Amino acid sequence: MLKPNMNYKNLKDSYLFYNISQKIKAYLAEHPNSRIYRLGIGDVSLPLCTEVINSLHEAVNDQSVKETFHGYLPECGAPFLQEKIVKYYEERGVKISADEVFISSGASDNLGDILDLFDASSTALVIEPAYPAYVDANIMAGREIVHLNSGIENNFLPLPDDTVKADLIYICSPNNPTGAVYNKEQLKLWVDFANKNGSIIIFDAAYEAFIEDDNLPHSIFEIEGAKTCAIEICSLSKTAGFTGTRLGYTIISRELVREDMSLHDMWVRNRTTKTNGVSYIIQKGGAAVFTEEGQKQIKENIKFYKENAKILTKTFDKLGIWYCGGKNAPYVWIKCPKGMTSWEFFDYLLNEIQVVGTPGVGFGECGEGYFRFSTFGSIEDTLESAKKIEELLS
Ligand code: PLP
Repeated sequence: MLKPNMNYKNLKDSYLFYNISQKIKAYLAEHPNSRIYRLGIGDVSLPLCTEVINSLHEAVNDQSVKETFHGYLPECGAPFLQEKIVKYYEERGVKISADEVFISSGASDNLGDILDLFDASSTALVIEPAYPAYVDANIMAGREIVHLNSGIENNFLPLPDDTVKADLIYICSPNNPTGAVYNKEQLKLWVDFANKNGSIIIFDAAYEAFIEDDNLPHSIFEIEGAKTCAIEICSLSKTAGFTGTRLGYTIISRELVREDMSLHDMWVRNRTTKTNGVSYIIQKGGAAVFTEEGQKQIKENIKFYKENAKILTKTFDKLGIWYCGGKNAPYVWIKCPKGMTSWEFFDYLLNEIQVVGTPGVGFGECGEGYFRFSTFGSIEDTLESAKKIEELLS
């Protein structure tokens, strides 16, 4: 009799977004003419920029002509896109080679697949509150998870100490859900810790493009020593609106070796076995993100989301509510007022002013009592929500 992967039995049901949608549904059933202000969404709302759209159209045309038609591309990525990403890193002083850049269909795919490279007996440290995929992907693989809680006392940026033991270490900076960002000195402590213990950092840089403070690192590879202990996973989803178009990349240095095995070579072998690469059309669209004009245009979109962040953070400043994020990230993470739990605050906002956000406890137990606002919505909804929040809580 076939035995399924019994680790799936250990997954906790995720009711977060289901509960949110059920609560909204129930509210609308009772108040059918109400308008809901959605500040909970993790998806982008602006379309792809013109530079990307033009490149996608050109690539479609290429596929219609024998001379420019492309069949299979190299499994690990098209050199024209890998080279653009190499230059993007070079501008920040990071030297990588094109064959260390692996093009993917988005960060999620690689966050899960990368676990193929590690023995099931290795432990995974997840800094919580966290993007839920880290925990679930490791549970599916039967791995032991070490939860490292963060909180106001460390500005949601915990640092390693000798009591922390783990083989894989997940770091998401800028962070979803908290919007907190590690500085170079703090990341250096994690890099030194990983090198000392032989651990590997899985660095999720999905929100790097939202960093506006010049001194904050966009990439773990800006930190000396990271090439021997880190894998960086990145996405164009939020950077350039590719949530529905699907494109990302993963960087593994040739210097990353454990037990005489090159993680880079293992990943090449993995990709060439398990994928046939990302489509030519999408990679062409992605290459346009890294042109001068593409960068200008995506920064305009990010600026738009940052306006939403400013509207929210100004309101919380006025109300004296503790928050982090917003400045270098598209999320604003607040401490629920009046000692409310995350779900109590959710219900309060929905019932009183029809504003919807995301309860912090959905990202791990230490998120209880906190709440995430997303800045990916419309400016009209954000302005109206901020006004209503101010009236409700002052
Ligand atoms: N990593 C983080 C921290 C995210 O918040 C998300 C999406 O919300 C992803 C990865 C997934 O990105 P992608 O759309 O490229 O799969």
